[in-house]
Amino acid sequence: MSPDGWFGSFGGQYLPESLMEAVLALEAGYARFCEDRAARGELDRLLAGFAGRPTPLTFAPRLSEDLGCRVYLKREDLLHGGAHKLNNTLGQALLARYMGRTRLIAETGAGQHGVATAIVGAALGLPVEIYMGAADIERQRLNVFRMELLGARVHPVESGTRTLKDAVNAALRDWAATSESTHYLLGTAAGPHPYPTMVRDFQSVIGTELRAQCLAAEGRLPDLLIACIGGGSNAIGTFAPSLSDPSVRMLGVEAGGEGLQTGRHGATLCCGSPGVLHGTLSYLLQDPEGQVAETHSLAAGLDYPGVGPELTDLVQRGRIECTAVTDDDAVDALGYLARREGIIPALESAHAVAGARQRAGSLDRDEIMVITLSGRGDKDMHDLARRRGVAV
Ligand SMILES: *Cc1c(COP(=O)(O)O)cnc(C)c1O
Repeated sequence: MSPDGWFGSFGGQYLPESLMEAVLALEAGYARFCEDRAARGELDRLLAGFAGRPTPLTFAPRLSEDLGCRVYLKREDLLHGGAHKLNNTLGQALLARYMGRTRLIAETGAGQHGVATAIVGAALGLPVEIYMGAADIERQRLNVFRMELLGARVHPVESGTRTLKDAVNAALRDWAATSESTHYLLGTAAGPHPYPTMVRDFQSVIGTELRAQCLAAEGRLPDLLIACIGGGSNAIGTFAPSLSDPSVRMLGVEAGGEGLQTGRHGATLCCGSPGVLHGTLSYLLQDPEGQVAETHSLAAGLDYPGVGPELTDLVQRGRIECTAVTDDDAVDALGYLARREGIIPALESAHAVAGARQRAGSLDRDEIMVITLSGRGDKDMHDLARRRGVAV
């Protein structure tokens, strides 16, 4: 957790000269924001009054029975917008206003981060422009409609594979030309310093709350924390506040897609290698020539070839364990949680539930497992029904 943006040998600021001024100003602005009690107080007020924090820590009696330990669910699915993403977008939008910025830009893949950015732009009165790959726009019309309903402008990106990584490049290009007026609201704990640190801090509200809630319910800390990993923001937010407690074990669950052996997956930490993507040195999925690989996951939020540098370092040092589960396992886990506990998780979050099921029987009866449910499943019902051949 060094202040200069390095986590072991990962992180840094791998950027063209044209963007250095923008990230240095952001670094300075964020440092002032952290010291400013009034600004932090405003964030706390919005997290409570607008976003709906604290989210509950729900005891799951039937999961506990099935998995052979005491299982709790951290309910980010109940946050406004239906996922943890608002913790970060609210924080960064307030920071943007604090720094005198008058416009927000963001990238989006499936559209979830675009929607979360459009929500805070509307709530704080900041105009929002979203870069989205043209191929993603065709696949995710509903989220484009939501963003526009919230008053955001969506720019189709026609370069490259017309997907998320091209959208990030387009947003960075915009920012290089406009950074005096514009904040680039990056969607996960990756990218150049200070984003990995800043996004971790904003998402750490998850891990801080769950510690207090677990202490209140059980009189002690959890033994195992489980979260899914796309870029890594809900996972690092879940884990970071407990990193200095050696008794708390941690498991990150990546997208195994159609199986690790098929090459069609998004398991960056399990299968990747060091490289630079979007301004940071971390693990990524790439071919032997260093070309960024195409990823695959049924869960759109896990379909990213990179991962945050802090998680990479923590996995390298053995502090965090990681595993991958397949699309099929995640779909199974989604239905399982729905039937057993009455909660339909997002397909991303269902990866964490599937990871927990892999661990069934490895904890003692009175040991405590907390699974972060990063989001709710409403957005996935169409895909799921289609997969089952059901018309909805
Ligand atoms: C975006 C998203 C993710 C993946 O993002 P992280 O930065 O890895 O947390 C996971 N779950 C849900 C519900 C999402 O919307």
